[in-house]
Amino acid sequence: MVISMDKSTEVFYSSTRDSSKKIQASQAILQGLSEDGGLFVPDHIPTLDKSLKELSEMGYKEVAYEVMKLFLTDFTKEELSDCIKKAYDSKFDTEVIAPLTEAEGTYYLELFHGATIAFKDMALSILPHLMITSAKKNNAKEQIVILTATSGDTGKAALAGFAGVEGTKIIVFYPKNGVSPIQEKQMVTQKGDNAYVIGIHGNFDDAQTGVKQLFADKELEKQMKENGLRFSSANSINIGRLVPQVVYYVYSYAKLLKEGKIADGEKINVVVPTGNFGNILAAFYAKNMGVPIAKLICASNENKVLYDFFSTGSYDRNREFVLTSSPSMDILISSNLERLIYRIAGNDAKKNAEFMTSLSQNGSYAITDEMKAQLEDFYGNYASEQETADRIKDLYEKTGYVIDTHTAVASAVYEKYKKETGDGTKTVIASTASPFKFTRSVMNAIDTKYDSMGDFELVDELSKLANVKVPNAIEEIRTAPVLHDTVCDKTEMKATVERILK
Ligand SMILES: *Cc1c(COP(=O)(O)O)cnc(C)c1O
Repeated sequence: MVISMDKSTEVFYSSTRDSSKKIQASQAILQGLSEDGGLFVPDHIPTLDKSLKELSEMGYKEVAYEVMKLFLTDFTKEELSDCIKKAYDSKFDTEVIAPLTEAEGTYYLELFHGATIAFKDMALSILPHLMITSAKKNNAKEQIVILTATSGDTGKAALAGFAGVEGTKIIVFYPKNGVSPIQEKQMVTQKGDNAYVIGIHGNFDDAQTGVKQLFADKELEKQMKENGLRFSSANSINIGRLVPQVVYYVYSYAKLLKEGKIADGEKINVVVPTGNFGNILAAFYAKNMGVPIAKLICASNENKVLYDFFSTGSYDRNREFVLTSSPSMDILISSNLERLIYRIAGNDAKKNAEFMTSLSQNGSYAITDEMKAQLEDFYGNYASEQETADRIKDLYEKTGYVIDTHTAVASAVYEKYKKETGDGTKTVIASTASPFKFTRSVMNAIDTKYDSMGDFELVDELSKLANVKVPNAIEEIRTAPVLHDTVCDKTEMKATVERILK
């Protein structure tokens, strides 16, 4: 599908549930979610104004500028360049930022070289800078307070992104007994005077519900305003997280071209391990900017809502929630899908709002045949727990390359796709986490004998096996002192926030 392209250069944003109000990028970033509950979408997808050949001569930061300037049209050159420079620096362990590794003739786009060794760093390293720049541009004088509930990964990536960023504070709530020991250690050792990490007695839903209540608390908002503070959210529905993700799809195509792996204009497939649908939507945007992408392959784990959606046209969250070894994809409501639904509904906010009402009331909706016909660029499938583990072992045994559980879901789905279609198009697989982040599942997939080893012992074993140095993010937490030990009841979240902000 090719989206009609507007030649005007300015991009405005409106809600997927009410398109009457148009705002600029900086306002959309500052606001996060629209007041009507919708997500902000660009009024058109801009076309790249540099050729892929020209882009192939550029480094990551330059490509980032060329892509982001087309979406964030109210940012000046200086503002945007400054945000990019501050984001993609030595926090990443390679200057390339997002390297490609070839295994079995397929290209793994490694998006895990940032501070927390998972792909959320790609966007969360720049979001804080986009946010404070947006605040300045809109004369919002208040200090930004980021409130986040986390089941593990997002919390640490948001902490790492916002820690030490002037004009911001970040408060993260996590379920005290509901995250992995490594994830907890990563968070409670977080440095930075503006970072607060709090364990709660309760599960992730309690933390999430508590945070939502704080956002909706008018009395707290008034009190904050008097103290020169305002809440904001760092979750993946912010357009300031989506736009930076478009960059690496453009960049990876340009790099394949530079290295002579593909010819100029040759189409490639992209495979994305999907949860909230943000990452694959970014690939779809890249395609519509002019990157020659054929199929967008959407890979799910056993929570296969999206696979069912692409096969039947019905989205149905009424099902058992499965805990898998790829927890960042354990999701039954893929929030960012709403942006695609809006588009295939013909940018019809009213129609989209009806689907979303049905989703919240009945847990499901079914799109029309006309809409379904516009999804032909997408292919959906899923991998079971066994298939995921088998893929890790098989790829390791054949090539020596070790991938994490999320990437393995994508890789396993890609194998199914090839078998089903015989399509030999060159392919990029988004590799969303370092295997060191999910060491136990990865090592167990390779050999069950590792099951009895301790967490850090396994880390050293993986390093030997994969012939990869232990990433700094893991090395650091071995010995780092615990800096956050606040634990509160789920009923005390408001009081805790008030105490922090005093
Ligand atoms: C968040 C995450 C995903 C899912 O990405 P979405 O943009 O939510 O679809 C996949 N893999 C890892 C490791 C993640 O952290």
